Amino acid sequence: MTYTPTDYLPYDFANRRHIGPSPEEMEAMLQTVGAPSLDALIDETLPAGIRQAEPLEFGKPKSESELLWHMQQVAKQNTVLTSLIGQGYYGTVTPPAIQRNILENPAWYTAYTPYQPEISQGRLEALLNYQTMISDLTGLEIANASLLDEATACAEAMTMAQRVAKSKAPAFFVDENCHPQNINVIRTRAEPLGIEVIVRDPDTLDATAVFGAIFQYPGTHGHVRDFTAQMAALHAENAVGIVTADPLALCLLKEPGAMGADIAVGSTQRFGVPVGYGGPHAAYMATKQAYARSMPGRIVGVSVDAHGNRAYRLSLQTREQHIRREKATSNVCTAQALLAVMAGFYAVFHGPEGLKAIAQRIHRKTVRLARGLEDAGFKVEPDAFFDTITVEVGALQRGVMQAAVNEGINLRRVGKTKVGIAMDERCRPATIRQVWRAFGIQDRDTDLTADYRMPDAMIRQTSYLTHPVFHMNRAETEMMRYMRRLADRDLALDRAMIPLGSCTMKLNAAAEMMPISWPEFALLHPYCPKDQAQGYTHMIEDLSAKLCDITGYAAISMQPNSGAQGEYAGLLTIARWQKARGEGHRNVCLIPVSAHGTNPASAQMVGWKVVVVKSADNGDIDLDDFRAKAELHAENLAGCMITYPSTHGVFEETVKEVCDITHAHGGQVYIDGANMNAMVGLSRPGDLGGDVSHLNLHKTFCIPHGGGGPGMGPIGVKEHLIEHLPGDPNTGEGAVAAAAYGSPSLLPISWAYCLMMGGAGLTQATRVAILNANYMAERLSGAFEVLYRGKSGRVAHECILDTRPFAEHGITVDDIAKRLVDCGFHAPTMSWPVTGTLMIEPTESETKAELDRFCDAMLAIRAEIDMVASGEMDPVNNPLKNAPHTVEDLVGDWDRPYTREQGCFPPGAFRVDKYWPPVNRVDNVYGDRNLLCTCPPLEAYAEAAE
Ligand SMILES: *Cc1c(COP(=O)(O)O)cnc(C)c1O
Repeated sequence: MTYTPTDYLPYDFANRRHIGPSPEEMEAMLQTVGAPSLDALIDETLPAGIRQAEPLEFGKPKSESELLWHMQQVAKQNTVLTSLIGQGYYGTVTPPAIQRNILENPAWYTAYTPYQPEISQGRLEALLNYQTMISDLTGLEIANASLLDEATACAEAMTMAQRVAKSKAPAFFVDENCHPQNINVIRTRAEPLGIEVIVRDPDTLDATAVFGAIFQYPGTHGHVRDFTAQMAALHAENAVGIVTADPLALCLLKEPGAMGADIAVGSTQRFGVPVGYGGPHAAYMATKQAYARSMPGRIVGVSVDAHGNRAYRLSLQTREQHIRREKATSNVCTAQALLAVMAGFYAVFHGPEGLKAIAQRIHRKTVRLARGLEDAGFKVEPDAFFDTITVEVGALQRGVMQAAVNEGINLRRVGKTKVGIAMDERCRPATIRQVWRAFGIQDRDTDLTADYRMPDAMIRQTSYLTHPVFHMNRAETEMMRYMRRLADRDLALDRAMIPLGSCTMKLNAAAEMMPISWPEFALLHPYCPKDQAQGYTHMIEDLSAKLCDITGYAAISMQPNSGAQGEYAGLLTIARWQKARGEGHRNVCLIPVSAHGTNPASAQMVGWKVVVVKSADNGDIDLDDFRAKAELHAENLAGCMITYPSTHGVFEETVKEVCDITHAHGGQVYIDGANMNAMVGLSRPGDLGGDVSHLNLHKTFCIPHGGGGPGMGPIGVKEHLIEHLPGDPNTGEGAVAAAAYGSPSLLPISWAYCLMMGGAGLTQATRVAILNANYMAERLSGAFEVLYRGKSGRVAHECILDTRPFAEHGITVDDIAKRLVDCGFHAPTMSWPVTGTLMIEPTESETKAELDRFCDAMLAIRAEIDMVASGEMDPVNNPLKNAPHTVEDLVGDWDRPYTREQGCFPPGAFRVDKYWPPVNRVDNVYGDRNLLCTCPPLEAYAEAAE
């Protein structure tokens, strides 16, 4: 076979890294799928009417060394000053052991969300440590495994309070000392839900008027207040009290639980996670046990496996939002797992004494700083503080701020006459002297006595982090081995293909990952002067321009921190546009039944009514139903949300008609961009008729999944929507996240991917993703029915295998998924978008050898199913039902009618490099009935050891 230049050129030219199959392998695969060439396959797969007119053109692709050199030049355009701005972001020291063994370790960062607990025990334990830490520090019983950022956590806490409060008062109280970005995001969230937001001094709280209230602790300008009285007042009115607290301050200060708070939220950024110009970092949420079932986000819990051994899992998984759909109360899916793991390890690394010492040092430095300023005649507020003070400077504000910059320090502008200073773990005596010099104080000795400036009544009385994990031997040898042990329990992309349909688990190339830990990207404060962030600005502009080219949109907002948050931001943008043209009453959203659960959940969050549209027999949107419902709701149609190619893995021919119908009835079209890996370079959502789309940069654009986050869900919009995009969280309004560009320190990854691939390389990735999917569909179609195909019989970049026919033999989709673990694979997406099916997405990154290993495993599983069906294998005591097998199954008694060899080493499994899950099948029901979401007490360890 001969290759056209586009077939092989990008492969040999630049993209060895990202394109799995070699030219020879592609040739063999094309033969299997029965297509004369890759071009021909793509022509058969993508209807001509939806192809983009012009090829993508980004100039000559960069080699790895060119890319890294280029990145360095851009990084140098960022000026790294010491930012003492505070306002929720603080300098922190990432312990090198954590940086190297977690942040920069693919065993941790390439893992997927732990929905399959048997292959996720390592990260589940790390997240349980994190939850235990949060629960201890806040003094509340139960914590979740992270939220996107502090500001969205505040907004989530507000809506949660509304759900659980017995008070039906319509308003929500917000402490005026909350960080401005928290207030901004709360307002955005409250508006479409009709919640009135009252922003005032905590002393003026009228508890009868509100269903809940939130207080910042310490306040944004440093105040340390006790909210016990407010909590009591709220409870007297059946309202809910929330504290958004700095967890490091809680090492010294009275915890929210002791004040009577019902919910605590905050950011764990300063637990070893670099500021990164705004993100990513893990926000936390903790609450009382009674409210556990109303808490958003994922919760790790403790259960048992089939042998009764302790095993971790995600609790209450049936709450997962794709099951709740329009009843959903939050759309959080991707959160910040990797950053939560880092923060949890920071606590393990330092232990309670270490954390307390860090907090004390910061406080003492702040006291010294304040003393020096006071001695020089400056008025310092407040009297009691932890790490943040405000200094009255009158007309000197501009001069002091500039003098500080000249000293290499960013301070915070407060009002017109004050300056804010927040100290952190990175501050040294020299930092204090630099700040003093900015105030004109020369040659002052930093060695002052430093008393606490916290009232005795505010000092924490309770212990925390008493669990043994926070008291382990902290020699780095031990730490390193603990991190290694946990990583080894998990199956991540560094060991095997993760064929998760719709999740696009593709390569996160090393060269793309390297820049994220460079100080020029890692250390910038999100609210630093713009001229210090020129490198970021350049990168964001260039990446935005490329994403506009790729999608056919006019502008990009980088603010959303996940796909689901992108949906929410996109729908808000549509809602504002509808309002601006006098159509603010429009509130109906058409969503196909096959949509991802976050779609209806996001519509819910902007106060829209979800109208579900049926699927036709071939899996396409039922056009007649769509038209009928659009007509029925024409008066109130706000928009529709569709996914392209569809969640069924097919390029629907009718997508343009769907968009036309929506527009004709006054609605806007949201195209969920999670499947862009099937489109880049071939088709553009903007050309199809979309008005808004989000892109999951953690799917298509190479940001790793991190075991359940971080992610980025930027949205692209058409021209007419630009002015309605989310505003600046610090200075504007309508923000959906705490930082203007969401999690910008991840952007070097996606940018590097585009720069190293070039337009042709990105297009080739799409083409090979489609080839890989069709190859698997072809190899597996004799044994499993491929549920949906396009007109030409091709699938897009993923395909759905039907496992429902095996139910009559007692074999479920779960059995197949767990048996795949024995074969050394992560299961495909289960039971979504169709119950009882598996959705497989190989991505372009996988080689033919790996695809074949997976197909061999699936075919062998099918053979086992046949043996069960024919009675050759026992219906209950068989390798499928007993899967996954652990190393324990190799020793001791063996009462099974198949051999250990058959059980433990099915086709696909490696011998020497065999992946052993640490637990047998995990009991989900037990875990939900016996909710335990912090590290089990010491006795439990003793029991397990017996
Ligand atoms: C992954 C996905 C989402 C949600 O993205 P998150 O980043 O997890 O919030 C939405 N829609 C579809 C189709 C997806 O596959």
